[in-house]
Amino acid sequence: MGNSEPIFIRNITVVDSEIVKQGVDICIEDNWITGLSRECTKSGIVIDGGGLIATPPFYIAHTHLGLYPISRIVGSWSHLDEWASSIAWRWEPKLTSLDSYYSAVIAIYDYIGQGIGGIADMHFNMDSIAEVVEKSGIRANLSVAIMNQGFYEDDWKALEDNMRFYRAWNGRSGRIKVSLGPCTIRLVSRGVLEEIARIKAEENIGIHMHVDEVWEDEEYSLRTYGVKVVYVLDKLGLLSDDTILAHGVWLDDDELRVLAKHKVLVAHNPTTNMLLRSGIARARRMLQLGVKLGLGLDISPTQSVVDEVLSAITSSRLIGEPLTAKDLFDALTLYASSMFKPLKLGLIREGYLADLVLWIHNGKPRTNIYEDLLLGAYKPHTLIINGKIVLNEGHVETISKDTYYKALRHIEDKLQEVLQEF
Ligand SMILES: [Zn+2]
Repeated sequence: MGNSEPIFIRNITVVDSEIVKQGVDICIEDNWITGLSRECTKSGIVIDGGGLIATPPFYIAHTHLGLYPISRIVGSWSHLDEWASSIAWRWEPKLTSLDSYYSAVIAIYDYIGQGIGGIADMHFNMDSIAEVVEKSGIRANLSVAIMNQGFYEDDWKALEDNMRFYRAWNGRSGRIKVSLGPCTIRLVSRGVLEEIARIKAEENIGIHMHVDEVWEDEEYSLRTYGVKVVYVLDKLGLLSDDTILAHGVWLDDDELRVLAKHKVLVAHNPTTNMLLRSGIARARRMLQLGVKLGLGLDISPTQSVVDEVLSAITSSRLIGEPLTAKDLFDALTLYASSMFKPLKLGLIREGYLADLVLWIHNGKPRTNIYEDLLLGAYKPHTLIINGKIVLNEGHVETISKDTYYKALRHIEDKLQEVLQEF
């Protein structure tokens, strides 16, 4: 898979959260960016960057690859709880390891083609997901969805599986990180939440959790713990710069300040928030208060970054707190790179890990560079992750087309089989 020679990219325009700079030469050796504006000392692959733009890849801060096939059943979207009990929790126990494997193949193949270089995924059969991540060449922060409903029914058993998975996969290939995934405050018992906090403190493991996707989270938290969710997590020590909280639709300013203080990454999922009528998260306000914002694809029907960016921009305008393309570029690159803490990612700099996308113009009219990059005026030409080429001139190098089509057929058969029972 991939290459082991140095990669020299000549005369390219670099765009990241801090700079827009033309005529840059980038040298990549092993998995590092070892030089900017100088030639590689050893010969290797040379890419002519004329007419191309180099950016960090997009890192998607919240996904469920195993739910990818049922995300397309749009007609069934209702309130989160109704959707979970009537669709997700009926689908999930029927998922075999092979189903999860092929589901991940389809999702990651599509992601690579969009310039996505890393994900934070929480679900079941995570060994299968990790296997696909490892083969695909992308990065992932993976966790088991710890919950007392659906797939596991017993949250202690789910936690045990998360820890087994952690020991088996954390640190593999330098691209896989394993976190703990308490699904939501409503689906994890107090005892398990306290145990997760104890393990986090002892073993320094990251957290990935749904928070305030729906108001019912707050009702439950007030009823059970006497305070809102963020304060429960803060008291337990679950908030840190290694914590991802997904959704955050109902967080108020005081709670956002607590998240900013702890450098928590909030994954904004505007499309699913709208489809499930959960509400519109105050993403712009999060940025104003210093919260790190990421963007999730969750189980959006199209699984497209362009569509998610449009959802984020349009929904933010509805609440009078408009996000810009630059806000979302930062969210997808620099801010989201923190989910791979402590790795140096998210900018194109000497001494950073070599994760980058080279974009080619798609022949659409120009607006500003960040809008162009996010809204489809450019398309990914090359994707390099950890110094290896995973997308080459628009072709996925690490997953064959045959495997992708085989996965599509497998999942289509599975869907037909399961849907008959729905
Ligand atoms: Zn989710």
